[in-house]
Amino acid sequence: MRAVKSMIIVGGGTAGWMAAASLKHHFKERIDITLIESSEIGTIGVGEATIPAIRHFYYNLGLSDVDVIRATRGTCKLGIQFHDWHKPGSRFVHPFGVYGQSLKGTEFHHYWLKMRRKNMAAELGDYSLGVMLAKNSKFTFPAKNPPSSLSVFDWALHFDAALFAKMLRKHAENNGVKRIDAKIINVKRRDNDGYIESVQLDSGLTCEADLFIDCSGFNAILSEQALQTGYEDWSQWLLCDRAYAVQSKSVAPPNSFTDVTARPAGWQWKIPLQHRVGNGHVFSSQFMRDEIAREILLNNITGEPLHEPRKIMFKPGRRKLAWNKNCIALGLAGGFLEPLESTSIALIQTGIERIRSLLAACQYNDTIAREFNETTVLEYERVRDFVVLHYKLNGRDDSEFWRYCRAMSIPDSLQHKMELFKSTGHVVNYRWEMFHVPSWLAIFEGFDYLPDVYDAQVDQLDETMLAQNLERMRESLRMAVADTPDHADFIAQYCAAEEMA
Ligand code: FAD
Repeated sequence: MRAVKSMIIVGGGTAGWMAAASLKHHFKERIDITLIESSEIGTIGVGEATIPAIRHFYYNLGLSDVDVIRATRGTCKLGIQFHDWHKPGSRFVHPFGVYGQSLKGTEFHHYWLKMRRKNMAAELGDYSLGVMLAKNSKFTFPAKNPPSSLSVFDWALHFDAALFAKMLRKHAENNGVKRIDAKIINVKRRDNDGYIESVQLDSGLTCEADLFIDCSGFNAILSEQALQTGYEDWSQWLLCDRAYAVQSKSVAPPNSFTDVTARPAGWQWKIPLQHRVGNGHVFSSQFMRDEIAREILLNNITGEPLHEPRKIMFKPGRRKLAWNKNCIALGLAGGFLEPLESTSIALIQTGIERIRSLLAACQYNDTIAREFNETTVLEYERVRDFVVLHYKLNGRDDSEFWRYCRAMSIPDSLQHKMELFKSTGHVVNYRWEMFHVPSWLAIFEGFDYLPDVYDAQVDQLDETMLAQNLERMRESLRMAVADTPDHADFIAQYCAAEEMA
């Protein structure tokens, strides 16, 4: 066993400060933590949409939803609205929540599949409170004791990533994390086993630690530049490899969802904050030139751009070993899947949770590192499959990019999951999946990839009764939506950023 008494976190972006705040909160005096970041290099400056898990991250630090929304000038996110993905003109919401109510132990969607075939059911989203609230740009915190499963929905945040990191930095430093602002110019490895011994800074200082957390972004200065861990490239399935990002002035009340619109060789995001809007165009350089991508972005934003669009290049995939020797890669240093489903920050969070549980006794060995790596791979692959699904199922015929994506071969694990759904109506849920049955259903339905079969149990229920049940659910959701405040009013009343209150 190798004891861990000291830790160096390299990087002060979202990954670095999330790791510093959470690990110090957890290990307290048992591990001495120093964070080294270079304000000269700066951070990537994007990453503003999250999934609901983030809330548990900051609850664990003793922060509340209102604290975080106010400090980060955030807004609430009930899901993602997809425009033009299935076909030009199509639109659907992937909500953070469930659809309908299961009946007699059978999941709701089986009943819906039967009734839809008979033209006796509305679209799936009409049975989801999350979707209905999002479509009407409404929001309130979910009831603590929901009166029925129909009232259940979950939510996440849109936030200013720099303000989120600032908030976490304060938390971490208050708890004893030391911060050094300097550039690492050299990494020294031990002769006998190749482990990292120390990092040398441009200030002349040399810092040693037992364990290093590489949060240095795409530079991956420890895990790749020093340890040459290698990278598994997934660009055969995820063709987008560039983005232009620009912030713009808000000209309308913020939606309670992230908006993503398909473009000829990729897609565009719109993330509303209290004080501005984040926009970006993610595209494939094989299918579109940079100048065109930049122009598409600028032509499709509402509100004046606040700066020149920034170009970001990336390679979808993951570091071959997340934990290599005495170095763990988190955040962009560990890998990147494009931001379509806002999964990067969530993967940082699960990585931190794994460090906390596997390093429980402040020591590690090869078995612990292997467990960390195996679960990280599974988690990344599950997310990858979910994102690839959005491209594979597209029905667009207007550009080479979308035709290519539809025809491309996909990972076997995804093929298997798609075939099982088509032949049984059941969505298999694997361990380490970040997205559960309702999320897969949202995408399957959004792209009209639906089975002709459903669970046999469904036929035991009288059709007229079923139709009445479905209508009652819709009516009860309509009433709940009518009683919920507008998202903008909710923010103004409960969580307006201090300078804006
Ligand atoms: P960075 O922010 O790049 O930080 C790296 C840190 O390392 C910096 O502090 C830098 O100064 C430091 N550093 C680097 N080299 C050195 C050195 N030599 N010496 C000292 N310090 C050094 N994620 C989401 O969850 N939701 C989203 O909506 C989302 N959108 C995205 C859109 C795009 C186009 C991209 C590319 C990513 C997006 N992400 C999103 C991912 C998200 O931005 C990152 O996961 C998150 O910001 C974490 O980044 P990081 O901390 O790993 O890296």
